[in-house]
Amino acid sequence: MIIKTLVIGPIEVNNYLVIDENTKDAALIDAGGDWEKTVKLAKDNNASIKYILNTHGHFDHTAGDYDLREKTGAKVLVHQNDMYFVENIKAHLELYNMPKFETPKIDAYLEDGQIIKVGNLEFKVIHTPGHSEGAVCFLVDDVLFSGDTLFADSVGRTDLPGGSYEKLKDSVINKLFTLDESIKVYPGHGSSTSIGHEKKNNPFFGIKAQ
Ligand SMILES: [Zn+2]
Repeated sequence: MIIKTLVIGPIEVNNYLVIDENTKDAALIDAGGDWEKTVKLAKDNNASIKYILNTHGHFDHTAGDYDLREKTGAKVLVHQNDMYFVENIKAHLELYNMPKFETPKIDAYLEDGQIIKVGNLEFKVIHTPGHSEGAVCFLVDDVLFSGDTLFADSVGRTDLPGGSYEKLKDSVINKLFTLDESIKVYPGHGSSTSIGHEKKNNPFFGIKAQ
């Protein structure tokens, strides 16, 4: 598995191109908006993007969905509970004074426990509501893509529509901190970390999973 990171847009969202070394099939975790950069990165790595997997529906993670789907033919997936954000992306971009993007076209909804095969890689969907109702993480081998649910020494905000600190805490403690401590965590913003590091150091919880 090869992981390439792109930092996209004014909100500096991490997009991850995850490539199966053998088949060169790839998944893009979140699409911040700069499709040219993403297509070039895929080309430079001989990779073919089969899926765009959105960790949640906020515009900084989905603004590139429409263009990248058009340019690559990749299928775009998001959890159904975040369709409010997808459908209202133009209004939200305007509200935050962001560049304009087309409304994403969604090919299928993500579900908890679902496995998405990309070449020989298997992405397991873990529904982690809290940052938003439809927030998910993706577990592939020993790597977790955590979106805006879990950051290095921090967590995502819960003051946007559908956000809930209680749900976020429940998701992180019972669904993420129960994973093996060696698992590396690649968040939607900022630097990477690990489950073990966050269980010991994340100041938002300070307690271990039971
Ligand atoms: Zn977000």
